[in-house]
Amino acid sequence: MPDPRYDVIIVGAGNAALGAALAAREHGARVLVLERAPQAERGGNSRFTAGAMRFVHAGANDLRRLMPDLSDAEIAQSDFETYSEDQYFDDMFRLTQYRTDADLTEILVRSSFDTMLWLRGKGLRFAPMYGRQAFKIDGRFKFWGGLSVEAWGGGPGLVEGLFAAAAREGIEVCYEARVLELLYDDVTVRGVRVRVGEKVRVVEAGAVVLACGGFEANPEWRTRYLGPGWELAKVRGTRFNTGDGIRMALDIGAAPYGNWSGCHAVGWDRNAPEFGDLAVGDLFQKHSYPLGIMVNAHGRRFVDEGADLRNYTYAKYGRAVLEQPQQFAWQVFDSKVIPLLRDEYRIRQITKVSAESIEELAGRLEGVDATAFVETVRRFNAAVQTDVPFNPAIKDGRGTVGIDPPKTHWANPLDTPPFEAYAVTCGITFTFGGLRIDGDARVLDTDLKPIPGLYAAGELVGGLFYFNYPGGTGLMSGSVFGRIAGRSAAGAATA
Ligand SMILES: Cc1cc2nc3c(=O)[nH]c(=O)nc-3n(C[C@H](O)[C@H](O)[C@H](O)COP(=O)(O)OP(=O)(O)OC[C@H]3O[C@@H](n4cnc5c(N)ncnc54)[C@H](O)[C@@H]3O)c2cc1C
Repeated sequence: MPDPRYDVIIVGAGNAALGAALAAREHGARVLVLERAPQAERGGNSRFTAGAMRFVHAGANDLRRLMPDLSDAEIAQSDFETYSEDQYFDDMFRLTQYRTDADLTEILVRSSFDTMLWLRGKGLRFAPMYGRQAFKIDGRFKFWGGLSVEAWGGGPGLVEGLFAAAAREGIEVCYEARVLELLYDDVTVRGVRVRVGEKVRVVEAGAVVLACGGFEANPEWRTRYLGPGWELAKVRGTRFNTGDGIRMALDIGAAPYGNWSGCHAVGWDRNAPEFGDLAVGDLFQKHSYPLGIMVNAHGRRFVDEGADLRNYTYAKYGRAVLEQPQQFAWQVFDSKVIPLLRDEYRIRQITKVSAESIEELAGRLEGVDATAFVETVRRFNAAVQTDVPFNPAIKDGRGTVGIDPPKTHWANPLDTPPFEAYAVTCGITFTFGGLRIDGDARVLDTDLKPIPGLYAAGELVGGLFYFNYPGGTGLMSGSVFGRIAGRSAAGAATA
């Protein structure tokens, strides 16, 4: 049971929350973390991730500061490239159609590498993403898409590392503690009302940091804000992110901000459970569609599977799948590219069919107009510019001519058996709308003035992502703004 008073209360125990807790502790605060989930399910969405993090770096030397274990041999056989501030800005602006909050993006981009080093200093370990973000070309691993590093042990490793750091720092964590309400005297936030097990109690604090996720696990809010049909999406991660933190802050006059009708959503196994399964993690996702084609119930393609590198399209294609009849699609590949499919295509819990011919495959694609599918493949195959070399590690320009939608890169005729197809539906990752914060992570009210005593970080912050999202930015923004929120909250609480 928590004491009646702390300097800083952190609501939630995912990546943003634990970063905030560590920063608040570092700045001298006595910290309490209140987490709604039982201990066995702790870690929020952060635990379901691959732990991929997008940050600015100048190549192998910088990466070695983060991963001192990197050997000379590994460096010699890897082309990590660099990822500059300008590239990060470009990605954020381009993908959000220039709507991202420029001030928040500037903080995210410019603090990203320093925050990675800070996490490393807290005992977190990192590793190159050889499996998912690199293709072996001429004997060297070529990384692509501005993303090359993940937390050691993926999301579970990240979360365990953060909890271990919190324990070393003497930070208290209370589980099955659902924060219900902010204590607010019409001027300042002074603590929370929380249900711990069966009991409701009041815990006071000098400052409160909200880091308790978006509303992706709340079907009613999804339908209300994202639109009709969104109640039918599967939730990729935790069942506990139902918008509590956003609601509590709006209740005391916080400003809503960002893309409230937008979210991150991907192609996800059609038969995956309603919420994420910690034993499977993110492996229900099916992210190799740029190597094949996707068809709907009418046997038709509906997106340009090769519009851009996977990191820049996957987060919006879940919505495209949701918009198809019966909210499903089949991803289809031939044996030329099957060896290139990501690890998630080789799990046991998968909806897959295979066949020796396209006609035979057509009969196995449950729910699909078989005749139309065969015609789609025939037209697609005829449209491929086979004179342009195929290279999955770059935007190779090997596209199609004369079909709609086109496929801009990585187009290969589906002509080499065996063929494989995987059924996907829409899996929602997190919602984009949320609270408005300033550069000190202070929550702003509808007059755009900071609400004294209230800070926020992570998924429930609005204004960063609109329409789309560059992979690896969710964890990074949670770490950057979590660290700032913890520091600011400690400063206010201990002043
Ligand atoms: C399958 C999957 C894969 C992903 N892969 C990546 C990736 O590789 N890289 C990346 O950058 N991003 C990835 N993401 C996105 C990433 O998970 C999020 O952007 C990030 O984890 C959000 O962190 P957070 O701390 O804000 O929220 P969370 O980690 O979700 O933590 C929120 C916590 O708040 C708790 N909570 C909720 N309500 C209350 C309440 N009332 N009281 C107390 N506690 C409460 C929840 O139980 C939860 O533990 C992925 C997401 C999923 C689902």
